[in-house]
Amino acid sequence: MSTPSSSSDQYPYPVSRIGIIGGGQLGRMLVKSARRLGCTCVVLDPTPGSPAGQVSGQQIVADSHDPQALRQLAEQVDVITFDIEDIDATILATLADAGHQILPSASLLAEIQDKLRQKQRLMALGIPTADFIEVDPDDAEQFERFGYPLVQKARRGGYDGRGVVVMRSAADRAQVLPVPSLIERFVPAAKELAVIVVRGQDGEVRSYEPVEMCFRSGANILDMLLAPARIPAATLAAARALAIETVTGLGGVGIFGIELFLTEAGELLVNEVAPRTHNSGHYTIEACITDQFEQHLRAITGLPLGATDQMIPAAMINLLGAPDESGPPVIRGLRAALAIPGVSLHFYGKASTRPFRKMGHVTVLDSDIESARHKAEQVRALIEIGSEVQ
Ligand code: ADP
Repeated sequence: MSTPSSSSDQYPYPVSRIGIIGGGQLGRMLVKSARRLGCTCVVLDPTPGSPAGQVSGQQIVADSHDPQALRQLAEQVDVITFDIEDIDATILATLADAGHQILPSASLLAEIQDKLRQKQRLMALGIPTADFIEVDPDDAEQFERFGYPLVQKARRGGYDGRGVVVMRSAADRAQVLPVPSLIERFVPAAKELAVIVVRGQDGEVRSYEPVEMCFRSGANILDMLLAPARIPAATLAAARALAIETVTGLGGVGIFGIELFLTEAGELLVNEVAPRTHNSGHYTIEACITDQFEQHLRAITGLPLGATDQMIPAAMINLLGAPDESGPPVIRGLRAALAIPGVSLHFYGKASTRPFRKMGHVTVLDSDIESARHKAEQVRALIEIGSEVQ
């Protein structure tokens, strides 16, 4: 075991062996930070040569619900964490009972991965969220009684807006998801915000500056992110305080992404909690003293948390696969985009592109947030991830 004695402050190499369930882009960026910090990683993912597996060099090719593979992972590492939420939390709980360290904990993951249980927990903690009820998707009257406009959310398995249906009137019930669900009030949000929060093993909590998320209409995928959010200082402080209160209440260890609505009336509501590094925190790699990935590793390995200060404004765009193109990716407009000062490209190394698949992201730094946004728009017009195979 590579656990140091706390009195000596001496660590062997590797400082810690990290197991990562899920080998996507979040895992990839986590592995890069881990290597820098003197940690090694084993990734568990069903796709051979996954984005994270390529960088770690050690991958168990298996599904996140495979008990044997999860046990194998646990035996090879000091601590297990994850970059996805769709994991069998019961197996993780069994592994934790057998003495394996899993952070955030299996019980917290189980609570968060079920959107109904998550909302119930937030409500019990006194965290403001949109009003909601559990619903039988076949019971039209229940929807009617609750009142439109509303938002139906699948309890399990949704991400990037899949599993979420906005219903403005009874006519929209035609799109009902036939799965266990909750419905909640539609929130007319002036802005959607996110706050990245880290909580250490000793309970210390730190947050980054709130960021502003802009969504591509229809696709429900983060389109551009502006950091810090362009909102009054008092609202920035209130959003930070609410996010910290949420993570403190949940009591998890590691990085959490707290998504918030800022209503037209200036009220803050928690939309949802992600128990992992978050798309809205990618900008921290270039713009903050300690990025969200290193911060997560510090938390789960019991090292001191890093400073969360942002050194310069940033805009970030996701690079999504072009519509109607699938196959081995090509990056069009790369040279033109990189010629713009302050532009950093992250390509995730996925072997194949698909329409709207997250293939990479670009962060733009500028001393002025509006010029960062302007440059990010230029980059978006220049870069396209497509495929030459038709
Ligand atoms: P996912 O887990 O798929 O990201 P979210 O709960 O974050 O699902 O919902 C995706 C998007 O749907 C949100 O970013 C927001 O734009 C919209 N949305 C979700 N809940 C509401 C709501 N109560 N009112 C208005 N819009 C909502």
